[in-house]
Amino acid sequence: MRSIAVIVLLFATQAAAEGPQSTVIADISGLGAEGVAALKSQAHWSVEMGTEMLLSIDASQRDQWLKRDGVRDGFGPLNRDEVWIRDHVCVHQAQMPALGTVGGFEVLRQPPAMIRYAKAHAIPGTDVPADGVIAREARNEPGGLKRAKSLPSVQSLVDRVDAERWFQTMSLLAAFNRNSFSPTLTSARDWILSSFEGAALRTEVFNYQMPSITSCTPATAPINLSNPIGRKIGERFPDEWIVVGAHYDSRNSARCDGTANAQPGANDNASGCAGVIELARIFADVPTQRSILFMCYSGEEQGLWGSRRYVEALQANGDIAKVKHMINLDMLGFDAGGTLDARVETNATHAALLTQYRNAATTYAPELNLITSSNTGGGSDHWYFLGAGVPAVFTWENGASIYPHYHQSTDTPANMTRARELAGGILKMDTAMLAEVAILGATFANGFE
Ligand SMILES: [Zn+2]
Repeated sequence: MRSIAVIVLLFATQAAAEGPQSTVIADISGLGAEGVAALKSQAHWSVEMGTEMLLSIDASQRDQWLKRDGVRDGFGPLNRDEVWIRDHVCVHQAQMPALGTVGGFEVLRQPPAMIRYAKAHAIPGTDVPADGVIAREARNEPGGLKRAKSLPSVQSLVDRVDAERWFQTMSLLAAFNRNSFSPTLTSARDWILSSFEGAALRTEVFNYQMPSITSCTPATAPINLSNPIGRKIGERFPDEWIVVGAHYDSRNSARCDGTANAQPGANDNASGCAGVIELARIFADVPTQRSILFMCYSGEEQGLWGSRRYVEALQANGDIAKVKHMINLDMLGFDAGGTLDARVETNATHAALLTQYRNAATTYAPELNLITSSNTGGGSDHWYFLGAGVPAVFTWENGASIYPHYHQSTDTPANMTRARELAGGILKMDTAMLAEVAILGATFANGFE
């Protein structure tokens, strides 16, 4: 990234001139806070998106920018107020094509009026935030990385993460056709329940009805689905719950057809459900002060129905106030760049949680290149928990757009890259955080810092 520093010096003395603008994309991975700030100062506007940054620059300087290593062409002239950023929507559903991806996020050009409509109607995605930051690498945080001394009591739990065992669990789940309309989804559910029983959890099933899916052709009839749950009772505060969840349903291009083969959904999302099972096994014999509810959801691919109906039920009976924290796992096992990029997302209300996850990762999973965002979208099962006011956090790989087998029959264990290393790192971070929020006090008397 030395070459980026050269750019900064080169343009530092050039004031931005009035005139036509164009966009470029700079690799800012590991550049550091000062380097990122210097780069930003040379642009009319910019958006930081984890490993990369989109910059609007003078069109007359475009050629100079493109000569530098780590800089590629952007999307031509683009106004800040017509930029819409979202996580990947699979090709079978995308109605609004993206200009391209930056740092694993998709960038779209939309009329400002359309963006106002999208924001007013909670359509997943975001405009450019006031601070120009969609997501930030931990390495680019002001103040840099802080690696705390690990606590032996937490390290011993982290050391229990068995990436090979997780991979085997994930592969077993991927062998079921787990489409929400598949007759074998209940077999997968029962297999998950037996895994929870094996981890000494009290098991239950949350039943709900998924409504007619009118975006399917033809529209589907309402169907009964269920979420398997394994409950670990807290010793001191049994009525304070931590939810660890992931969807277990899968799909291929045939989102509405449960008999179309094959729908292995290995990365999306046998990987996350296997992660929930791995965390349940790690904590099986560990006394916790709060209760932990391990659960896998169905109906996610048709619109987050399993988690949505569950949250609605908790809101209806008042139990939602018991949920103190939620960890969502969805797509843990594809490392596109060879650098073990992993994302942690929440909304602005709970942005302070990101510091805890950063510290957990730098201390207990330093192999991860952690990227945090307080601009999460509605693409997975943390969404309705956040909507209900629960501090919920989404932990995953660096977005869905990096995975070429997304929503394809080829989403198999063999097509995941460095799955054990990446998922293992994410599960180490989640183990440390689960200890933080479920064991409380005694273990983390001094916190992370
Ligand atoms: Zn998913």
